[in-house]
Amino acid sequence: MSRQPAYRPDNSPAKILRRGSPESVRVNVGGIEIGGPRFVVIAGPCAVEGVEQMEAAASSVRRAGAQLLRGGAFKPRTSPYAFQGMGEPGIHILCEAGRKHGLPVIAEVMEIAQIPLMLEQVDILQVGARNMQNFSLLRALSRVRRPVLLKRGFCATVQEWFLAAEYLLDGGNEQVILCERGIRTFEPELRNTLDLSAVAYAKLHARLPVIVDPSHATGNRDLVIPMALAAAACGADGLLLEVHPNPDQALCDGAQALTPDRFQELMDRLAPLLAAVGRSLGARPLPAQAVHSR
Ligand code: PEP
Ligand code: MN
Repeated sequence: MSRQPAYRPDNSPAKILRRGSPESVRVNVGGIEIGGPRFVVIAGPCAVEGVEQMEAAASSVRRAGAQLLRGGAFKPRTSPYAFQGMGEPGIHILCEAGRKHGLPVIAEVMEIAQIPLMLEQVDILQVGARNMQNFSLLRALSRVRRPVLLKRGFCATVQEWFLAAEYLLDGGNEQVILCERGIRTFEPELRNTLDLSAVAYAKLHARLPVIVDPSHATGNRDLVIPMALAAAACGADGLLLEVHPNPDQALCDGAQALTPDRFQELMDRLAPLLAAVGRSLGARPLPAQAVHSR
C-alpha cells in the first residue's frame, strides 16, 4: 500500500524548488550533466515502432551529436483508436538501440505500474504533459532514485508546473528536469504556443534544469529549428526533439518530426549560437563499447 503523506498545514508555494534554498540541481545521466554549463540535446522518434526504425534513429541522432535517445513505448494519445505504442517490447528495443550507440535513454512512464519496468533500463523517466498533475504518479516517482523529466501541462500555469515538481522534490527525488513543451492558447495555426518566457522565468526562479521541446510546441517540422535556436538563446539547458528516419511513415507525430538531415542542420546551427550566449554543446557520448562495459 502506498504511504500516505502526513498532512502539513502549510500551503506556501514551491519552496524546495525555488532559488534561495539549496544550490542548483545538476542531473547526471551516464556521465552527461543536464543543468550545467553545457547544452544537452535529446533526440529520437515520438514512438518506438520497431528494431529497424530505432536503429536508424539512434545511429543518425548520434552521428549528428545528440547525447541522449528518446522514444515512447507507452503513448498517451488523444484518440483511443490511434497507435498507443508498443508497450514493454518497445522499452527493450529503445534500450537496446541506446546501448548499442552509447546513448542513455528517456521514455514516458504513464502509470505507477510501469515504474519497475522503467527502472530496469531507462535512464530518465518522462512524465508527459497530460500527467503533470497525476499526483499519485508524482508521489511514486518521488521515491525512486532516477531522474524524472517533468513536462509542463498544456493548460498549466508556471506555478502549477513548479508545484508538480515540488511533489517530486518533497518526496526526496532531487533529480528533476523541467520541460516546457508549449501551452494551449487561442492560436489555432500552431499545435501549441511555445512559452519561452516561462523558460527564462524558470531559469531565474527554479533551481532545476530547464529544457525545451520545440516539436510538441509547434507540431510543425518547419518551425522546429527556429524555435530550438530560440530556446538555446533564451537560456534553456537543452532540447528534447523528435527525429524520425522517415517522418512521412511515422505512426505518431510525423508532421513535427525532423528528418536526420534537418536534425544535422539544427546541430550545425546550434554550435555558433550557443557560443554567442556563452555556452557549448555537451560532450559527445562515450563510444558504444565503453558504455556496454559500464
Ligand atoms: C512526447 O514527448 O512524446 C509527448 C507525448 O509529449 P507531451 O506529453 O508533451 O505531449
Ligand atoms: Mn510526440
